[in-house]
Amino acid sequence: MTAAVEAAEVGYRVILVEKEPYLGGRVIRMNRYFPKMCPPSCGFEINVRRIRQNARITVYTPATVEELAGTAGNFKARIRVKPRYVTGAYSLDDSFTAQLSATRPNDFNYGMDRTTALYQPHDMAYPTDYVLDRAVLSASDEAKLAEILPAGAVDLDMAEQHLEVKIGAVIVATGWQPYDATKLDNLAFGRLPNVITNVMMERLAARGGPTGGAIIRPSDGKKAENVAFVQCAGSRDEKHLPYCSAVCCMASLKQIRYVREKNENARATMFYIDIRTLGSLEKFYYEMLDDANISFVKGKVAEISEAPDAGDLLVKVEDTLGQGNLHLQFDLVVLATGMVPAGAAEKIPFRLTYDEHGFIDGTTNIPGVYAAGCAKHPCDVSRTTKDATAAALKAIQCLNGGA
Ligand code: SF4
Repeated sequence: MTAAVEAAEVGYRVILVEKEPYLGGRVIRMNRYFPKMCPPSCGFEINVRRIRQNARITVYTPATVEELAGTAGNFKARIRVKPRYVTGAYSLDDSFTAQLSATRPNDFNYGMDRTTALYQPHDMAYPTDYVLDRAVLSASDEAKLAEILPAGAVDLDMAEQHLEVKIGAVIVATGWQPYDATKLDNLAFGRLPNVITNVMMERLAARGGPTGGAIIRPSDGKKAENVAFVQCAGSRDEKHLPYCSAVCCMASLKQIRYVREKNENARATMFYIDIRTLGSLEKFYYEMLDDANISFVKGKVAEISEAPDAGDLLVKVEDTLGQGNLHLQFDLVVLATGMVPAGAAEKIPFRLTYDEHGFIDGTTNIPGVYAAGCAKHPCDVSRTTKDATAAALKAIQCLNGGA
């Protein structure tokens, strides 16, 4: 979004292709940013306004690039736009969705709640149109929609579109996925419901999330009062992600603040190998050292298992700073799972070079194609937006005869 508005606002036409039915990527699913603790919705709203007001930007969602060919200044892209089955001719609201019965996991909330087949991805979604998940629309829900919706509001025969466009330069900002925590067998994610991941914690803490912002544990809805944060869950581990994911120390420190702000009696413990808070971000960490309800234990968690008290969890760890082997009990555990570039599983159809982890190698090996943000390396929102602005400048230089 940043690259698109930066390029468009100096006069270039931009086509923005987004796989999800809404813009905003992973960032709009966060509760707050560090270090200022402001919600991402503020910056998002500003960018949406800039996009709405700028006729030079065309947005396609849910859409992917299925073919890309050519050279700098003269690329051709084929864009596949999937049907959302909602025409946009009428404005819909949740009074319609409430009358449907079949449900699907809510991807936006990482599956912690469910939506009906007709849904709006989230409260601030842009484009604002609802989406219909045709695969879960039951026969009875289809009949109900025919009864309650104005004729023409949905089109169950809507076809995929395939568009060909000519473009001068390409910016790849395909983002990241959380590491699949079920691969960390010793940490019990997927087996014990009160072990969650850091991205799930963002949705738990968010007002628009599955619990309305209450940090409660999934198994029984009990208020989480003693929460463990397990760092490097997958990252810096030769068997999983050998690199540091760069943001998860700060993300956990931020989430400890959520826990403490929402409940003055709550306690939090962070289990870490190293705490990586670069530059001025270290202040954020140091300010937390004076809080008696926050503990830091240097040690890699060996195992998470069920405690005798229903729903509670036992964390087994060796404290390398002198306390020896510990078995500590918590009511919720948050895994600081790392970043996997989206390019690891799904590459754009072009001859780009990737490193062994799926990050785009360097600025890219192709003149006229520029990578930004987590497509290139693990990084936070601030660095991503700077990368995006730099990529927009490189694209503009390319269109003006530069490299
Ligand atoms: Fe581990 Fe922190 Fe690096 Fe994340 S940022 S991989 S938690 S050291």
